[in-house]
Parts: sequence; C-alpha cells; structure tokens
Amino acid sequence: AQIDTLDLIVLIVLLVGTVAYFTKGTYWAVKKDPYANTYGAANGAKPGKTRNILQKLEETGKNCVIFYGSQTGTAEDYASRLAKEGSQRFGLKTMVADLEEYDYDNLDQFPEDKVAFFVLATYGEGEPTDNAVEFYQFITGEDVSFESGATAADKPLSSLKYVAFGLGNNTYEHYNAMVRNVDAALTKLGAKRIGAAGEGDDGAGTMEEDFLAWKEPMWAALAAEMGLEEREAVYEPVFAVTEDETLSAQDDSVYLGEPNLGHLESGGRGPYSAHNPYIAPIVESRELFTSKDRNCLHMEIDVSGSGLTYQTGDHIAVWPSNAGVEVDRFLKVFGLEEKRDTVIKIKGVDVTAKVPFPTPTTYDAAVRYYMEICAPVSRQFVNSLAAFAPDEEAKAELVRLGNDKDYFHEKVTSQCFNIAQALQSVTSKPFSSVPFSLLIEGINRIQPRYYSISSSSLVQKDKISITAVVESVRIPGADHVVKGVTTNYLLALKQKQNGDENPDPHSLTYAINGPRNKYDGIRVPVHVRHSNFKLPSDPSKPIIMIGPGTGVAPFRGFIQERTALAAQGEKVGTTVLFFGCRNRNEDFLYKDEWKAYEEKLGDSFKLFTAFSREGPEKVYVQHRLRENAALVNELLQQKANIYVCGDAAHMAREVNVVLGQIIAEQRGLSPEKGEDIVKHMRSSGTYQEDVW
Ligand code: FAD
Repeated sequence: AQIDTLDLIVLIVLLVGTVAYFTKGTYWAVKKDPYANTYGAANGAKPGKTRNILQKLEETGKNCVIFYGSQTGTAEDYASRLAKEGSQRFGLKTMVADLEEYDYDNLDQFPEDKVAFFVLATYGEGEPTDNAVEFYQFITGEDVSFESGATAADKPLSSLKYVAFGLGNNTYEHYNAMVRNVDAALTKLGAKRIGAAGEGDDGAGTMEEDFLAWKEPMWAALAAEMGLEEREAVYEPVFAVTEDETLSAQDDSVYLGEPNLGHLESGGRGPYSAHNPYIAPIVESRELFTSKDRNCLHMEIDVSGSGLTYQTGDHIAVWPSNAGVEVDRFLKVFGLEEKRDTVIKIKGVDVTAKVPFPTPTTYDAAVRYYMEICAPVSRQFVNSLAAFAPDEEAKAELVRLGNDKDYFHEKVTSQCFNIAQALQSVTSKPFSSVPFSLLIEGINRIQPRYYSISSSSLVQKDKISITAVVESVRIPGADHVVKGVTTNYLLALKQKQNGDENPDPHSLTYAINGPRNKYDGIRVPVHVRHSNFKLPSDPSKPIIMIGPGTGVAPFRGFIQERTALAAQGEKVGTTVLFFGCRNRNEDFLYKDEWKAYEEKLGDSFKLFTAFSREGPEKVYVQHRLRENAALVNELLQQKANIYVCGDAAHMAREVNVVLGQIIAEQRGLSPEKGEDIVKHMRSSGTYQEDVW
C-alpha cells in the first residue's frame, strides 16, 4: 500500500504522541509535583528514597516484595492482604511496593531466596494501569536489557521466583491481558512462577472469590518451594494508631479531610494531578432527566487559573466524601461515635508499611474523607473481624460468614451491604474492640470516580462538563436502597447550588462544605486524566458514535467540537450518533441541543434514537445500528472512526458483535472475516471504546 505525505505526517505525529503518552515524561523534563505524596510516609516517594528494590529488601530485611499495578485500589488492596497473610501465616518478611516507585533493570540480580509477587490489574483495552506503564513497557519490551548488560537471550531472570495474580473483566476483549503478558514475559526471561497465575473476573462479579480460591494452592506451592511452615495466624496490626490528647481537631496540623499537605497549609497549590486535586468551583448544575425518581446531572466545572487542561475525550476525576449517614453508622458500629473528633496519629509498625492517608487526623475525617466505607464487603475481612466480635454468638456468626461462601452471598453480598450494615445485621452491639489498624488494612482508601468529559476543549477550554447519572439502586428482596457515593454527593452539591426546595431528600447529609469549609461556594476536588479516546485529527473524516444513556457524554463534546470546527470553515465529515434511552420524554439527554447541532451541521449530522420503553418491543442502539447497516458500512469504507461509550457489560459487547455481522453481510464475507475486520479496527484505533 502506498503512504502519501499526509498519512506519513499523521503517522509520525501519532508515534510521537504514543511515545509521549507511554513514557509519561521519561524523555523530557516534567515538573515534579511538589504536593504529591507529602504527607509523611503516606502514599509514595519521600525525597531521596531509593528506587532500587534489591537495596530496599536488603535494608529492611525483607524476603518478599508484593508489587501492584492498581487503578482503582483493588489490586493494591489485594497486595496488602497478601503481604499480611504471608507474614502472619508463613512468617515471610513482606513488603508492598507500588510498581511506579522502583526500577526493574536490576531484577536479574534478584536473590534466589526471595520472592516477588505481581498483582496486576488490566485497565481499559488491555492496558496497564497508570502506575504500571513503565514496568510493562520494560518487561515486555522487544529489546529488554538489564543494568548488568544481560539481554533476553541470557535468560536473565533465572534467579527470580514470582507469584502472579491479575484483576480483569471478561466483558473486555483483552481479558486480564496485563497478568497474561507479564507472566509470559517473565517466563520468557527465565523467571520461575510459583503456583498458577491467578485471574480474577470483575465482569462475572467473582473477583473476590477468584482471589480467595487462587491463593490457597498458591500458598501451598510457595511454602513448598521456600520451605515455609504455616503457623497459627495471630492478628498483628500493620499500623500503630495512637490517640493524641495533646492535639485538638481545631489544630492547624490536623488533617480534617484535606487531601495532602498543600491543601492543609493553603487550601491547595498546583500543579494539580492524580495525587493533588484542584478544589474546583461548580459554576452550573442542572438536572437532565424530567422524571422525579431518577436523576442525571449536568455540571460545569471551572478549571480556569488552575493550570489544569483537558482535551476533548478526556476524563475528569471527582474526589468524593462519604455520606454523613454512613459515616455515623460506621462510627457507631465500631464504637467510635463519642470519639469522632479525637485526634489520631497513624504510623506503619514496619518501615515499609505505607499509611494510606494523611495524619494526624480524626476518626471522623478518616472515615468521611479517606476510607471507602460503603464498598461491597470481602468475606476475608469479615472473617478477620470475628476475633474482635462483641460476644460469642456474633463471633460464631462472623466465622460462619467468613468460611461459608454461599451463606455469605445470601446474607451479605446479595443484600449489597457495606461493612457497617453487614455487622449491624449480625448484632446491634458495637464492635468496640476492633483495632482501628484492622479497619485501615481491610478498607480501601476512597477512590476518585471518573467521568467522561462531555464538553469540547476547543469550545470551552476552562470549563469541563460532566454528565452523571445518580446511582440509586433498590435491591430486590432487601429493604434498603444502595446509593452511589460520588453521584449522590454531586446531587447534594447541585441541590445546594440551586437552592432546591427539598435538599437532601434521602437525608444523606454530605459535608459539602468540605474540611474547614474549604469547599464552600459549591466546589469539588477534581483532577483530569488524559485518555486515548480522541476524534480523528482530520475533521473531514466521518465518525460513528454509539452512546446510549450517559455513554453519550463524550459524544456531546465530540459534536460540540465538530460544530465549532464547521463554524470556523473547516470541512467536517459525516457525524453519526446512535443514542438510546428509555423514553423520549424522560431521559432523552440533551434533547434540545441535538436540534441545534443539526441546524448548524446540516445533513452531515445524523442522530438515530432507540427508546427501549416506548413500544411493545425493546429497541436498543444495536438494533438501530443494524437497521442502518448500509450507511454504517459505507462510512466505514470511507475510513470512518467508530466510537462506543457507556455500558461495558452488555451494550459495548453487543455492538461489537453486530458490527462484525454488518461488515460481513454488507461486504459478502464470512462471519469470521467480519469479526477479524472489527478486531483489526480495534487494534488500529479506528474502533475506540470508553466503557465502564
Ligand atoms: P459507587 O458508590 O461507586 O457505587 C457504584 C455501584 O456499586 C452502584 O451501582 C452501587 O449500586 C454499587 N454498590 C455500591 N455499594 C455497594 C455495596 N455495598 N454492595 C454492592 N454494590 C454496591 N458515569 C457517568 O454517569 N457518566 C460518565 O460520563 C462516566 N464516565 C466514566 C468513565 C470512565 C473511564 C469510568 C471508569 C467510569 C465512568 N462513569 C461514568 C462511572 C463513574 O465513574 C462512577 O462509577 C459512577 O458514577 C458511580 O459512582 P458512585 O460513587 O456514585 O457509586
């Protein structure tokens, strides 16, 4: 095939862009983020800290390092749990390590009497998590070479023993690609895997059980390999939590929810990043649904003057806090109600233990701002609480829940209880003797939630739009409604901003003014995450977008952008949107805006709608796609980019299948060939997904 000059330029730009993206500044100077990781031992690198893992193991007397590649905190949590279990049950000297914080070019000198674990989440389209990008590039690189000069041909990792577990989602095409590829690369380099490489499946909802089922044979294999003896596990706290009566919650040095030192001292200073959120004003917020019982929010977040930038198709992360009712419930269940404002200091008992949030803080702030207290509960965690139950009866029940998978499912998982609700269902007595360290160990740090930016950076460079549906799920057979943490927090902000008549209808009582009222004036902590979900650089290329529900978010940005480009006189290619919702009068997002774009873009804009609850038959976007097979195929042959956003579990999968069928039918090819073409479109970037 011939490559013309334009193609070549585009290719070069893409290549430079890709290298830039994956190396994240390795090859050019990036300003180091001064406020990241500045809270004591918490969360990361201290100045002068070694990046040499061998030296670190040696200095701290460890023989087991558990590396994690984590995006949402689950892999990190599993790493911590493995570290604890290895230490308590088998006397391993364990440490947990963020892959981002170490170099790997000396792994060929990894001592034979030690072991490395890799707990790796796969993100998006088979990609590494942000903190594992460099490791992944290194270990799977074609011409990997080590500090000593060893190359792949030397089987340089023959002294490295490793254990591997992956966290993935089978609804994505590249299921558990990270652990599979890393495992293959390590093996190829001569390393020896102990036990099977485990795979947890979030798509099937079996992550936790997959992990529990994998780790027992793994421990047995590791014990045999390293000559370890199992012993009676006795709880040893990872953190020393001390109540400090000399400090009061009003003291300037006490974190009341501030994300880091910069925020404690001055309310935040840039550069802002995933470690250092910007407290951004919400300049506008409104409802997009007209129905009373469901809410979908449109918000405009002002990032002017913050140094934060975005490009159309990026994500914005919102840092939530927990609802007051859940904070109160948690403090009550663990007997901490009276002590909520007591100042606590938290330190790792071991030098390698990282305190996951800033301290000194208070019980209230820790639970409200730093801990993911509303998340689904793990069976292992419930088991570990049994030893601290308030009486024998409660203890027996917790042991049963901890050991009986089906019983646990029936009593806890199917009810969608969080930890405090689960314990309340066992006994009304408080669990006052649970060490706070155990709660820090067993509960993740609260995670920012991502939203596909629904505006164009060309049109509104300093104002980021969010389109978020408020999570409120009534569980069949349970008498409570599960409320999403972040979206209900955003709803409360919207209600306050608009002076709604019935603010906080669910009495969730969010502390929306933030720590020390620092978020007053309707503000919310955010950061921006750059994505690969991008419009073609040449606007004359046609595009097909499939985004039902809030999946339409990035496409609003895409269409805004193309409309603006057209207004500037650019030639804009055919722009097709497939949108679906329940009912045109209830949840048809941005109904009026589409008309305005139609007026501006004329015939080149086509909107196809699918309303699932209007007629006798349920109609979804994939049906509309099929109905328009000829158009879709024609545009694809004109090199259209195709984009899918929204529900990963069903819609995105089905669209993938339907597209293969359309191509096969329209071009008179076999179904297999149709599928192949779709695969190729995905790998070449003409088919892009932004799904969750
Ligand atoms: P959470 O508290 O995180 O709860 C999430 C779900 O878990 C709920 O459905 C809830 O029913 C269930 N749940 C909660 N607690 C329990 C429990 N104890 N037991 C069992 N189940 C429980 N969303 C949008 O609306 N718009 C977007 O544009 C958008 N873009 C995204 C882009 C990306 C890249 C990603 C990864 C996600 C995106 N999301 C988007 C989803 C968004 O990030 C959040 O996941 C969503 O808003 C829910 O957040 P939440 O804190 O309100 O709910």
